[in-house]
Amino acid sequence: MFDDRSSATASAATPVALDRPAKPAMWRGFRRRCPNCGEGPMFTGYLKVADRCPVCREELYHHRADDGPAYLTILVVGHIMAPLFHVVFTHFRPEPLVMATLFTVGCVALSLYLLPRLKGFVVGLQWAKRMHGFGGVPART
Ligand SMILES: [Zn+2]
Repeated sequence: MFDDRSSATASAATPVALDRPAKPAMWRGFRRRCPNCGEGPMFTGYLKVADRCPVCREELYHHRADDGPAYLTILVVGHIMAPLFHVVFTHFRPEPLVMATLFTVGCVALSLYLLPRLKGFVVGLQWAKRMHGFGGVPART
């Protein structure tokens, strides 16, 4: 679980936890919690990732989620709402204005619900896979 890198190099190395299971980290991120401890909040705002976890002090500013959460949100919302649109139209045939209003509000609400959760999911994956500076290995000078 821990790798004492002092045997590989002559520098004084800090023990680094090598195991970072991806599924728990992504689930913690989806719950908008720190991928390391699962207790501290990951966000300081709606989508602003905290620099550090307030509970375990894990650095979170290394994330590079970029447009990934938005693409995932569109993918998930589209795959939920498009079949639902078809079912509602074929079975109930509501008035066009009712249907447009219903699905507009539904798409926006589901997108606003999923976007921060999928961003947490992506940040959790990046943390688990040690991407973009999440490596935790101290810099050697
Ligand atoms: Zn934490």
